[in-house]
This record gives sequence, C-alpha cells and structure tokens, in this order.
Amino acid sequence: MLIMGVTKKMKFFKRCILAGVALLGSMGVTAQAETQMQTMLGDAPSVPKNIVIMIGDGMGPAYTSAYRYYKDNPDTQEIEQTVFDRLLVGTSSTYPARVSGYVTDSAASATALATGTKTYNGAISVDTNKQPIATIMEKAKALGLSTGVAVTSQINHATPAAFLSHNESRSNYDELAHSYLKTDADVMLGGGQKYFPASLIKKFEAKGYQYISDFNQLDSVKQGKVIGLFADVQLPWAIDDSDSNKLSKMTTKALALLSQNDLGFVLLVEGSLIDWAGHNNDIATAMGEMEEFANAIEVVEQYIRKNNDTLMVVTADHNTGGLSIGANGEYSWDTSIIRGVQASPDVIASDALANGDWRARVTLNLGFEPNDDELSQLSRARMQGKEVMSTSIKQLIDSRSNTGWTTVGHTGVDVQVFAMGPAASLFSGYQDNTDIATKLISLLPKKKL
Ligand SMILES: [Zn+2]
Repeated sequence: MLIMGVTKKMKFFKRCILAGVALLGSMGVTAQAETQMQTMLGDAPSVPKNIVIMIGDGMGPAYTSAYRYYKDNPDTQEIEQTVFDRLLVGTSSTYPARVSGYVTDSAASATALATGTKTYNGAISVDTNKQPIATIMEKAKALGLSTGVAVTSQINHATPAAFLSHNESRSNYDELAHSYLKTDADVMLGGGQKYFPASLIKKFEAKGYQYISDFNQLDSVKQGKVIGLFADVQLPWAIDDSDSNKLSKMTTKALALLSQNDLGFVLLVEGSLIDWAGHNNDIATAMGEMEEFANAIEVVEQYIRKNNDTLMVVTADHNTGGLSIGANGEYSWDTSIIRGVQASPDVIASDALANGDWRARVTLNLGFEPNDDELSQLSRARMQGKEVMSTSIKQLIDSRSNTGWTTVGHTGVDVQVFAMGPAASLFSGYQDNTDIATKLISLLPKKKL
C-alpha cells in the first residue's frame, strides 16, 4: 500500500468501492442506492450490461508464461508484458465432481463455468444424476439478452455445448447439433459442418438464421441471427492458416451483432485448439493458438475501452499436457527455435513425405538446420509414415528449445483468472470454477427488463 502511486491508489480505492457495491447489491440494497454510488464513481456502472466469457481451453499457467517469453523481444532489456499479465486478477481450481477425481475434462469444467455446478467428466450441463442444469446462456436468454459463441473447434464441441445445451455425453455430437435449434442463440461461429447436414441447416434457416460457410461471408453479416461454420470439424491451426486471425475476427463480428440488443448480451469466446495442441505436445502450434487467443482478448479489451458497461472474464477450463518451460535439468528455454517454425509439425511431416528433397524443405519449415544425428533420426521416422515423422519433428523442436511435457492428457493444476470491466474485482483471489459461474450469473439482471 505504502509504495502505491496516486493513480494506483485511486484504482485500488475504486476497486474496493466497486466490490462493496456488488456486495450491497447481493444483500438487496436498492437499485437507487447503487445508482447513486455509480454516479459518485463516474460513468462506469457497477454491474455490467454485457458479459464476455473467454476460455483458453487447456491454457494452464505455463502457457501464459510461455507466451510471454515467446513474444519477448530479445533485443530489449525488459521482458514485455502480455495481455494476460495486464488482466490477471486471480486463480481457479478446476476439479470435477467427486466421482471423477481431481482432474477434469473440458465437459465437466465447462459445465461448472456455465452453471456453477460440478459434474462428472463427459457431462454437458447435466448433474451427476444426468439431470439438466440451467446455464448462464439460458438464464440470459430468458431475461431478454442476446447470446452467442465464437470458437475455433466445432461449435458443438464440449465447451460451447455446455454453455448452450445439455447431454449426458459430450460424444453425442449429432444430438448436440440438433439441440442447438432450441437454444435461440443469436450468434454461433466456429467449425463443424460435418455435424450440421443440409436438412438441419434448413431448420435453422426456417428459424430465421442466416447460414454462412465461407469465412469471407462474415463481413457481409450486419444483423440478425447467424450460424457460421467454416470447417468440417475444427478450424485450421493458426500457424498453418493464411488467415491466422479467424478467432479475433469472429469475436469482432459477434460483438457487433450482439451489441445491437439494448438489453445486453452474453458471449462465449473459446481458444479451443490450445488444448488440442497441448494434447499433441506441440509447442510451436500451441504458441500460434495462444497468439490468436490473445488477439481475441485484445479485441474485447478495446471494446470495453469504448463500452465500459461490458465485463470480460478470461480463464482456462484446465491445464493440458503438463507443459514445462525448460526441461532435462537444463536452465534454459530457447524461444527463437519456436518462433522460427513456419508450419505445424503435421504439415511439415506431410510435406517431407511428399517430396524427395525433404531435408532442405524440413530445414526451411523448421527455421533451423538439423545436425547429422537429427537428420538420420528424421530419415528413419520418415520411412515409418506421417504420424511417426510428425512426432519426430515435435521431439526435435522440444529438444532444441528445451521444452518439456508430462502427459498427453490434462492435469489438475489451478488455472488463472483474468478480468476487466464492471465487477472485475469480484474475480480476484482464489476461487473455484463453480464460483466464477455463480458470480457471473449473479451479475445478470434480476428480472426481465
Ligand atoms: Zn483436452
């Protein structure tokens, strides 16, 4: 406290008051008293009109630290802050219901974040008795708010599904896709054409949705309900995509469409593929996904600077891969290796298998020249097919950059919470993932406006 500057002190004071206002609100103090306190504080309301929930799937603390060093300019003395450093407010535990132990999957965690209730791994917003639990999206809809999701996986994947729907299993992709007809969600953007056949799309159109499947069509959507599916299943890896800013563009469009509702909106944005890269133990691809998720957060940060009635809460549903910054007893992590990689290991492997001059092509794609030992290892892997070649490339990037992994699954470490906007201070300190949902739901209007 003593060393706080004046501005910091004022910010701290304001945060305390805002937290107090939120507390008074939950104690039933009149709206009039709240408004008076808001006036004292200037323009920013104490309770948000709009809520943006952003989930970095699998984005445990090592990912945000790794991203800081990945983005660091080595030519300057200081290590630059990232958007994650700027917005950090707290931490969250992620454990599922007792029956599933301490390590959650995305379905149980998304259920916790969407409903405030813990459930078993695999459950899509149903409780341990497989009974549906109302989600924040459903509550928002009932109050007249608009709702939307913008994700890089298929839109019926576990995380968005738990915000929009209910099912005893995340694997019931077709049932989940059909169930979206009943959600009345205003904006659904991501991948998943495979699960939405023409007959189903017709039903969405009959309900007033505009369907688009070409990413360039996104520009032309100016109003109304939209379902945009831009890939058969998930979107391409950002590192391989000629347009690597798809998530931030979908976020921009979702904000533009949803903000047309004067009553407000709830939007879920997910950097879904951070988790998929983590499962693959693929550091170069993971950093590409982190970069685009950070871009999407910055889109919302800019939106809040212009619209101070909007709250953004960013977190992860769990940690994936047990990523380690430094490995094998060595005190080093070489980001220049990772930054130099030009494509995902899958693409580098396919390219190497398809071409006779593969050594030169791999060198070009990796951004560094493998030594003789490494080349003979790659050569052996190449003869065993794409998957072995891809694994060999990932291992080479790991050993050169000194990146470690402990699992191809999830881990139970707590994740971080980042927030900005009205009531952001509610999310400071330690909390459980169910608390995040409970707090967000408490910030919705008390009754239909
Ligand atoms: Zn996962």
